[in-house]
Amino acid sequence: MHSVNHSNHGIPASEVNTLIISCMDGRLNGIIDEYGIENSVAIRLRNAGANVSEPEMEKSIRSALEEYDIKRIMLLPHLNCGAMGLVDSTLTGLKSIDPRVYSDLVQQYKGTFVDRKDLEERVNPDMQFDRLKELIGKREIFISLSTLDPAGLSVPADYADHEHTLFVTKPYASRCEFMFEDATEATGKEVKIWGTYVVQPPDESSIRIAVENLGIKRVIFFAENQSDLHEMEHIRKGLEKKGILNGTNASIVLPNHIKKKVTGF
Ligand SMILES: [Zn+2]
Repeated sequence: MHSVNHSNHGIPASEVNTLIISCMDGRLNGIIDEYGIENSVAIRLRNAGANVSEPEMEKSIRSALEEYDIKRIMLLPHLNCGAMGLVDSTLTGLKSIDPRVYSDLVQQYKGTFVDRKDLEERVNPDMQFDRLKELIGKREIFISLSTLDPAGLSVPADYADHEHTLFVTKPYASRCEFMFEDATEATGKEVKIWGTYVVQPPDESSIRIAVENLGIKRVIFFAENQSDLHEMEHIRKGLEKKGILNGTNASIVLPNHIKKKVTGF
């Protein structure tokens, strides 16, 4: 269920030596891909807030540490983070929130920060860094921490007008650019580098935040191979049962070149 697969884009599992942990934010795809060029053997893990403690994230990190010879973890939280905004407004009593989102994300920050700036610049990076250190235990793994600033990225001027997409997938070594190309080809509608939120591994709280708090209507469950397709279907059904996907346009995507392989055409 939580095994981390290697990519279908030619990266052998034996070469994976890095984990990149960041936020699902739709402005970070390009920069996370760039970090990946430097480390073309990195598995990406992303959720709301670069939250290491979220249960699915934690399981995926543990599983990657078992499966691969990880030498380096790059932790990339960011400023102007919607998830941190949600934490701030929930804990200052401005907003009520789903109980699951509260326990998976919000709760850990209770009483830890002065204001949102403090939360994003100091508390969240430090907290996630410490959790990672606990998770790696005695392993010799170098953790690097950089807090990304979207203000320093070339975010398009019309970004706010983009129709945002939620891209739900497993932790893969693939760059967003390639997965989005596959999904564009399979759905016939562009999946954009700017404005596509990436949740990998799939977790209910991040998906809830994207759909219920950010109002994202287009949801893509992406599988890189046939066996992950069944898992994605299972996850989608579970979310549908809980009503989380109500009002969204949700689809399951398997890249066309994989479909061809499977069906033999
Ligand atoms: Zn964020």
